[in-house]
Amino acid sequence: MTSILVVEDESSIRDAVRRGLTERGYAVATAPTGLAGLEHVLAEEPQVVLLDLGLPDVSGLTLITMIRAASEVPIIVITAQDDDPTMVRALDSGADDYVVKPFGTDQVAARIRAVLRRTGRAAEPSDPIKVGDLVIDERTRTATLAGERLDLARKEFDLLLALAQRRGEVVTKRELLAEVWQQAYGGTDRTVDVHLSWLRRKLGETAAAPRYLISVRGVGVRLVEPGTG
Ligand code: CA
Repeated sequence: MTSILVVEDESSIRDAVRRGLTERGYAVATAPTGLAGLEHVLAEEPQVVLLDLGLPDVSGLTLITMIRAASEVPIIVITAQDDDPTMVRALDSGADDYVVKPFGTDQVAARIRAVLRRTGRAAEPSDPIKVGDLVIDERTRTATLAGERLDLARKEFDLLLALAQRRGEVVTKRELLAEVWQQAYGGTDRTVDVHLSWLRRKLGETAAAPRYLISVRGVGVRLVEPGTG
């Protein structure tokens, strides 16, 4: 069971994250202050830390540095605003990823899986995901459409899985590059576009007549049940 530490002073968020991740099979501990969080990291060695940047006792950025001095544990920052300079500082200080409030548990769970994959500490694979007639099975790394197995290349499957884990949500190309190609800063949108077009062909659709893969111009793409997007 993957152990998660949630460092967050707002009890409503702390409890919601704990509940949501517990339901998804994680062992969740919480800390209401930065120093309690640091103590837990040192004593219990959780596998992932979710860290709120706005804490009452010590700034989240300072806490990242303090954790990094002692541990390589993946850190996902929780922040109230999509504030670019702060995020850059958090990532530069050693955070691995971030989520912006308000966020859903599905998104946090997907970030946790991604960060564990990237850092080579892969979590238990998730149950098969069904979207319309499409079934994506992480355990067997196979996907079927209306019962027919799809012949997907490795990156095509990874891309489909990344989208399925956040089904219904727009996923940006930058996020896909980070999750599927492990390039947080490098890589180009073109890489994503090319693989998306291959994936579309295998799903029997085109960009002009999409069914499952809905592009949102200038933003990204989301996987939907046909007819609902
Ligand atoms: Ca806070």
